This record gives sequence, structure tokens and C-alpha cells, in this order.
Amino acid sequence: MIYVPSRMGRLNRRALLRQLQKLGVASRADLAKSLGMSQPTAGKIVDELIEMDVLEEVAAQPVESADHNGNHNGNGETGTQLGRPGRQLRLNQSRAKFLGIHLGLNLTTLAGLTLAVENEDRWPVSFELKRTDSNPAKLWEKHLRQAAKALGAEPFIGVVLSVPGVVDEAAGRVLFSPNLHWTEKTDLKAMVRRIWDVPVLLVQEERALAQGHHLAEPECEDFLLVDFGEGVGGAIIVEGKPFSNPLPISGELGHTPVPGNVRRCGCGAVGCIETLVSLRGLMESFAAAVPAAEKSWRGLCEYVAQNGVKPWLSQSLDPAAAAIAGALNVLGLRRVVVTGSLAEMPATVMQYLSHAVQNGAMWARFGEVECVSAPRRRTAGMVAVGIDRLIVPDGKELHREAMKKAPPQVAPVASAAANPAIN
Ligand SMILES: [Zn+2]
Repeated sequence: MIYVPSRMGRLNRRALLRQLQKLGVASRADLAKSLGMSQPTAGKIVDELIEMDVLEEVAAQPVESADHNGNHNGNGETGTQLGRPGRQLRLNQSRAKFLGIHLGLNLTTLAGLTLAVENEDRWPVSFELKRTDSNPAKLWEKHLRQAAKALGAEPFIGVVLSVPGVVDEAAGRVLFSPNLHWTEKTDLKAMVRRIWDVPVLLVQEERALAQGHHLAEPECEDFLLVDFGEGVGGAIIVEGKPFSNPLPISGELGHTPVPGNVRRCGCGAVGCIETLVSLRGLMESFAAAVPAAEKSWRGLCEYVAQNGVKPWLSQSLDPAAAAIAGALNVLGLRRVVVTGSLAEMPATVMQYLSHAVQNGAMWARFGEVECVSAPRRRTAGMVAVGIDRLIVPDGKELHREAMKKAPPQVAPVASAAANPAIN
């Protein structure tokens, strides 16, 4: 169900939800105060959101610093004025509202998602597709149907589908996917809707990760997130929002060419960074440099823990760091958040990468450049996308919905030739 309030109402609703995402739990009075809204305005929004099952009330937690009159920290007094002493609010975490699906290179994972901000991803249901499967689209749908049974009949209000590649999120299409070309020719949204008949939102996988990181660490407002795994990609958050640029492509650090690298990339080019620092790329270099070692990810990590960053590894990390530093210099950012395989490797790898990024980042010559690792918070980002686009859609989303219902009456483009006036 998409609720359509006035523009001002939408902005206030968004602001209030964001504030609650940051705070976790808050009273009506806390929310009004921190947002600079009048208490009646905040109270009205809260009531509507409770009605929509987006917020829920919980008993106030006893606060340790309760004063000698027994008032809780700020909540007691003002709460009483509103006639709801001791009631706190939080985003609904009693039941799953969205279905999150992450389509990975081999593994697809699913989870029912409440509106709470989760600090860690949990995927109770998953299935695998093999690279050799001849009709991956058909098989994916079949597995999805089985997964639906495992998940049970939750009344989800929407599905958020995270996918790799170049994704037109507004149109809900994968334009180009170097490692999963079949998704370019498949109407993934329609496929999912055949199983769950609710709105389906496509989100680019790194954009979901970046939004999840921002939710979990709201003070981190401007950063470049780089995820290393089956592929290598990035996403940019500026002033707390996903970076907005004209094309539905950004953060594609993994496809920067590395001179001298002759490995062929799934994107069709030769020598991309991804072929060196993806899981597969790292395994390939490791196996070639240390043929006697156990050829597994664990074997690689153990080797690095014992031997440090040897040339086979530094030769892959250096170009990745150079691309990251280049992005910082171009975008005007000074913070990098690394998630995925490099973040899970022995700490010496992140130290090496961080040092190499600082070497290339101009801001580091006179200021501070941070390069930190963090866990993947994909589900948190997917919930953020679901809230923004389905629960409190902005003007653009509403416009899109309206256009779907009533397509604009315009002359077809082809008529330009027949109508010399349009020139
Ligand atoms: Zn490439």
C-alpha cells in the first residue's frame, strides 16, 4: 500500500523516520524536539505511522540516569504533557515488512526484513545456481518458488531485490552485468512478482551496502564504500544520501584497466582491476605464486597471516588502492569504507591497502584520509530503500507511480520527421 500525503507531510514523515532510524527508540517529545517540529505535528505523524504499522509503541526502558524525582532523562516531563507517559516509539520490528533478495554470482539469499536497522546481515534461506546451468533465468525462478515455501506466507508490502552490475533502479532493469549476463535479458521484477504479487524494487548491490553502512553509522555522512567479493564495486554517499549522477552507473572501480594485466574480464575488456582482486582473481594469483599451498580461501588467508603481503598480493592491491585514491581525489571525499573479502582477510591486508590509498590521495598530503573496514550491512540498506520508495516515496517516486497509472498523452517520437515544427 502506498500512502500519499501532501509534500510537506511527506518531508516531515521522512525526517521523522530517519531520525528514528538514527535514534532507535525515542518518545514523541524527543522526536518533536530533535526535528524542530511542534509536538502536535510530530504526534500526528506518529499516529499515522502507527496506523500504517510502520511504527510501534514500546514501554520506556528504565534510564539509569533517572533523577531523584524519578523522572527519566527528559522523557518523563514532556511525555506527560502529551498524555502518553512512558511510551517510546521504534520502527516496527515485530514482523517482517519487506522481503529482501540478494542475487549473487552463485548464491541467492533471502530474508524477511523488519523495519529495524540490523547491524549484521542474516539470510535464513538461500540457494545456489551453478555457472554451468544452461537456463539460469528459468532455474532461478524455480528455486525462488521453493524458497517462497521455506519463507512462509508473510504478507510483505514489497520486495527489495539487490543485484550486481549496472542497474537502472528507477526503471527496475539490469542494463549490464559483467558476471551475470543473463540478468540483462531477464525481467527480474516480473519474475519475482509472479511469486510475490507486491511492488518489487531493484537496487544495485553496492548502493544497498552503502546505504546500510550509513544507517548503522549515521555520523558517517560522506564516504566511498568499496566492496570486494565475487566482483569489485563501489558506491558513494554524499551528505548522507546516495550520490546522484546523470547515468545509472557509478562506483565501478573494478573495471579500471591495469596496464600489463592480461586477464580477461566479464565486462568484455582485458586487464580490469576486478580480475586481480575479486575472490577468483586473488585465488588465481595465489595459486600461481604458491603452487604448493592449499587452494582454498582459508588456505590463502592462512598463508597471508603467516607471510604478510607478498608481491603476488601487493601487485593486486596497489592498482585497487590507486583507483580508490583516484576516486577520492575526483569526488572530494576523504573516507573509504571497505567491505567484503578484503575486510575479512588478516588485518595486514587492510593496513597495506589503507597505506597505499593514503599514498595516492591528495587530501592525505595535508589532511586526514581514513580507510576502514566494516561488515556488510546489505539488509539494512535494503530496508532503507524499501522505506524511502514504498513507505514514504519522494516526489519522483510518486510521479513515476502516477505516470504508470496514466501514461502521458504525447505524440510518438517518430512523428518528429513528419512534423517539421519539432526541429
Ligand atoms: Zn571489467
